[in-house]
Amino acid sequence: MAHIFSRLPDKPDHYTLELEILETWDREGTFEKLREQNRGGRRFSFIDGPITANNPMGVHHAWGRTLKDVFQRYKALRGYEQRYQNGFDCQGLWVEVEVEKALGLNSKREIEEFGLAEFATRCRERVAHYAEVITEQSKRLGMWMDWDADYYTFTDTNIEYIWRFLKAVHERGWLYQGHRSTVWCPRCGTSISQHEVFSGEYRELEHPSLYLRLPLKGREGESLAVWTTTPWTLPANVAAAVNPDAEYGLTDSGEWWAAALKPDEAFVRRARGEELVGLEYDGPFDQLSPQQGVLHRVIPWDDVSMSEGTGIVHIAPGAGAEDFELSRIHDLPVLGPLDESGRMLPGFGFDGLSTDEVEQPITDDLERRGLLLEAGRIVHRYPTCWRCGTPLVFRVVDDWFVSAEEIRQPMLDANATVEWTPAFYSKRMDDWLRNMGDWNISRKRYFGLPLPFYPCGECGTLTVIGSRAELEERALSGLEQLRELHRPWIDEVPIACSGCGAEVRRIPEVGDAWLDAGIVPLSTLGWESVEYVPHGYATGAGEGLTSADLPDHSYWEQWFPADWVSEMREQIRLWFYSISFMSVTLTGRSPYHRVLTYEKLLDETGREMHRSWGNAIEVNEALDRMGADVMRWQYCSQPPSQNLLFGFGPAYEIRRKLLTLWHSAKFLVDYANIEGWKPEWGDLVSGPAGAAEPLDRWLVARTNALVEEATAAYESWLTVDVVRAYEAFVEDVSNWYIRRSRRRFWDGEETAFRTLWYALVQGLRVVAPLMPFLTDHLWRQLTAPCAEAPESVHLAGWPEVASADSVLLEEIAELRRVVELGRQARATAGVKLRQPLRTLVVEGAVLAPAHADELAEELRVRNVTFGEVDASELRVRPNLPVLGPKLGRELGAVRAALESGDFEELPGGCFRAAGHELGPDEVLVESRGKEGWAVAAADGVTVALDAHLDEELEREGRVYDLIHTVNTMRKEAGLELTDRIRLTVPQSDADLLAYSDWIARETLAVSVEASGSELAITKA
Ligand SMILES: [Zn+2]
Ligand SMILES: [Zn+2]
Repeated sequence: MAHIFSRLPDKPDHYTLELEILETWDREGTFEKLREQNRGGRRFSFIDGPITANNPMGVHHAWGRTLKDVFQRYKALRGYEQRYQNGFDCQGLWVEVEVEKALGLNSKREIEEFGLAEFATRCRERVAHYAEVITEQSKRLGMWMDWDADYYTFTDTNIEYIWRFLKAVHERGWLYQGHRSTVWCPRCGTSISQHEVFSGEYRELEHPSLYLRLPLKGREGESLAVWTTTPWTLPANVAAAVNPDAEYGLTDSGEWWAAALKPDEAFVRRARGEELVGLEYDGPFDQLSPQQGVLHRVIPWDDVSMSEGTGIVHIAPGAGAEDFELSRIHDLPVLGPLDESGRMLPGFGFDGLSTDEVEQPITDDLERRGLLLEAGRIVHRYPTCWRCGTPLVFRVVDDWFVSAEEIRQPMLDANATVEWTPAFYSKRMDDWLRNMGDWNISRKRYFGLPLPFYPCGECGTLTVIGSRAELEERALSGLEQLRELHRPWIDEVPIACSGCGAEVRRIPEVGDAWLDAGIVPLSTLGWESVEYVPHGYATGAGEGLTSADLPDHSYWEQWFPADWVSEMREQIRLWFYSISFMSVTLTGRSPYHRVLTYEKLLDETGREMHRSWGNAIEVNEALDRMGADVMRWQYCSQPPSQNLLFGFGPAYEIRRKLLTLWHSAKFLVDYANIEGWKPEWGDLVSGPAGAAEPLDRWLVARTNALVEEATAAYESWLTVDVVRAYEAFVEDVSNWYIRRSRRRFWDGEETAFRTLWYALVQGLRVVAPLMPFLTDHLWRQLTAPCAEAPESVHLAGWPEVASADSVLLEEIAELRRVVELGRQARATAGVKLRQPLRTLVVEGAVLAPAHADELAEELRVRNVTFGEVDASELRVRPNLPVLGPKLGRELGAVRAALESGDFEELPGGCFRAAGHELGPDEVLVESRGKEGWAVAAADGVTVALDAHLDEELEREGRVYDLIHTVNTMRKEAGLELTDRIRLTVPQSDADLLAYSDWIARETLAVSVEASGSELAITKA
């Protein structure tokens, strides 16, 4: 017989199914059709935060990319036209470090020896390679993007846009060269800016812990006790800081300590910190040449720590940020002891040694000179470079900064217009903006944005170039070799100073990578671009990699600001910050209206994932073993304000849950094929015709409610609510509708088929954005008989529904609660679900009486009555998870009152105890009924079940058992649903032959007889 529907296997093979769907999308051009369908529709503008094309993507990237895809797909179903532009981040330290590793280079000197031109070429090649890898992974994940039109941040176009920004901030007077203490990576040989330090890792590192004494001048036998864990800073010491308000004491061995840090000491003398201020002391390395002429003195500082050390802090302004600030206040000399690679400079006594290598010689030297009080080791958390893992140091260097002062308030104002999901992250952004320092934009590196700064030694003018055209106009030579705006080529183009015309050269520094990513809301949308240049974005290093257009300004006006952006929470101080900074500066507006942000991804036990810990999951492995849909479901189930615990365990659970959907679809397919039932496409529009039975009307209402709930969830950017709504829906379809309708399907009842088909197909449409493969596969199976159906669920648009019948939904929800209580009562009495019983009494359910028949059937009882339950004993306990937080300390009294029976019962399932009124959800009520009755209660509803078995009930129970066993045997024997059998029951069950019609009907037996001692079936 020709089937209406293709048969579904017992469970889905996600891997194969997904590859097939990918192939189908490709062949049918599904994505292109979708874009065509929505062309000219309302616009939904999304701007992609670029992924660094540096390595294959990680499972945390796949999370973000899933969310981006989900909402683009949802908006597409609603008819919105979109850009679908993916972005790659391509230059800066992160790319350089990986290329260095690949080439086996380990210092800036080695890069320079290797050659900057070749190094730049290798960087570009790495980006091109991993852009391809990431693209393939993204497609496999189901992400729909305009893959030929990606933006690359290393194009000349992008660079020119950043130049315009830099010229603008220069014209406003925000650009300055700062002599600053900065966090420095000795291996990378560059400063690390404020936002990058946060991204770096603090690691547990072991360092020396030295206590030393610094003799006070003019105070015979008295010294300052100071503590340090960075001996390399001691040769740069110029001052010692005390807390002026704290109490200090002189020990009998002659050292001043903070009294709080030596609580057991009987000091010979005590003094307030301010009395020590101004005293002079002998520095630890006065013999060194940079120390000549330095007067060491005690200064006041309110922030001196009283929790560790001695309460007297050694100050080296050339080797610490706070120290540097203090040097400005107290006019202290600044001695910088380290070179670019973190080695001691000549004159500091330990020439050329690294900060690690000087530890022992310095300790020995102090000891020899009698200045060492105590030497030990300490393990503490210490910041390391976020790219290479090297412990960071402080250096005072000349870096370029953009002042944040004037833009701070406009950025706060712009953030006030943004709608954040979850909402409280808006305040996090405000906090960052209020506290952000000036933006350190320069890096002493190679393959990055060339800062277009040309200082003039003759007249002091700083020329800032704002475009390539301007560069060409001012260039004095070297244009012929300028293949792209990168080092080393750009360095070979000297220009004429805008002040005096003298030949000036570019500073060697490149830019912070967040400039590259920060400009994209302007550079990719054609802000102030005069004409639309097809494929015009692919310039410089980006040539040949993309065919993205360079749009004109009117396009920018259409698509800016983004309606929505989404990245991880750490991007508050990275990408959200940098795009806001640059957009607010240039346009006065926030570059986005709405933002979804989310927390971190950890392994399924809650640990960070690290390759070296063996708990990292590669994207390709996850795609192969879980499947993209299951990964996406896992990502989408996550409330965004909590860390996602990602792994194969949760994936297994999701696969199991998805089986309920699969089995429901298979149930429909199997029975429809038996009956030759064909779906009507029109049912999706108007609802299934002829749905007259309450159960059918309920499922239609339930489906409408799902669409409503899911719509609201998508509109609030919360995939977790879509997942919850859908899982509850599938559970209702399977464990209520199908279970209560089996007989009707068996009887081939048209409305049952139509109603179930309607519910399943509408449900698929609702979760298609989350789970694009499985939904499209099932869509294609279930709508295949309808000629009018769109070929893909992704082309089917969003279901329009009438509002759900909320009274009916509430009735059935209550009915299901009563059924649940009935099951509990059965379990209490130890009576299995198959065993028929005589009577059920229900108290407190308002809506359930209309459904007495269904209740009787579900709970397999003869009579259902509504009235008072005669419960002889009542035990009430506090529902701790609810009451604990509410009552706090009062909980004990309430619990004791409940335990001793000292409480009053109030209407509606409420109680009063120890002066508190307790709601029905705040207590757990255990009742024991009359002898032989089982009772269960919750939320003000109580049911009592007569558990007595008479001979008749007992025999019926055996019939149900027999039917169940025979149907299991049918399945095990591999019989088709329609196959008939001959049934033989053992002689011991001969009394059940009185029910043989019933047994035959339920097992498709053509004959039932009793013989021998075995239960047996044979195919008729
Ligand atoms: Zn580094
Ligand atoms: Zn000049």
